[in-house]
Amino acid sequence: MTSDQIWQPLVEELACLQRADRKAEFWLRDDDAVDPAPALDRLLDLTGKFTVPVTLAVIPALTDEKLVVRLDEAPHATVAVHGWAHRNHAPEDQKKQELGAHRPREAVLDDLARGLSHITGLHGARAVPMLVPPWNRIDAGFVSDLGSIGFAALSVYGPPKPASVAVINCNVDIMDWHGTRGCRDHGLLVQSIIAQLRHAFDGGEPVGLLTHHLVHDESAWLFLERLFTVTARTEACAWLPIRTLIGRSAGRAIPGKV
Ligand SMILES: [Zn+2]
Repeated sequence: MTSDQIWQPLVEELACLQRADRKAEFWLRDDDAVDPAPALDRLLDLTGKFTVPVTLAVIPALTDEKLVVRLDEAPHATVAVHGWAHRNHAPEDQKKQELGAHRPREAVLDDLARGLSHITGLHGARAVPMLVPPWNRIDAGFVSDLGSIGFAALSVYGPPKPASVAVINCNVDIMDWHGTRGCRDHGLLVQSIIAQLRHAFDGGEPVGLLTHHLVHDESAWLFLERLFTVTARTEACAWLPIRTLIGRSAGRAIPGKV
């Protein structure tokens, strides 16, 4: 299959939306940024070229002013809080988790509060009070405390569960973590995006694309470039800044809900 054939279903879907005067909504989250790096430059250059706002989930314990200086040149980047140190506290036979019920509650909440304060202190107005749990996992028992330590939003992966803070999840992960550890098949990714777009128009969430710049192979970079090219060619697409989504979703948060 040629690249054009792979992307044709999305091109047609977007043409349909344009005829119906509807807009497909996307947002982009990229995880594990710590320091300036060639891969980060590549991500920031690519998203900058297509004016795609990018939310970087930054690991607080491992980052410092070097990233601040780099991001000062990337006004389209926003920074969220990626746990504290991206350290696994689960036993070896369990899925990796930094924010699980393996440690005392105060220890986890202290880590999170420190992470938010560190990221906000470094990045100021570029930071958003959104928690992105490492490995997209957080014990449900901690979610109700996020508001009290200053978070306004939570972002994990998959269909969102009702919570007392805004929940803005990713739903299309470009990486094949359990297979090649490279980019997933482009045709399958296009199908996932179309499925999520249709779900969004049925009252579901926008397409939340998840990337990890440090481990992208050439296929991953190519996929992003093609996607940005296809979505830039039509007025039926919008890449939304995370603040817009938090503002919109805050109204749906349920006070007192875990
Ligand atoms: Zn991570």
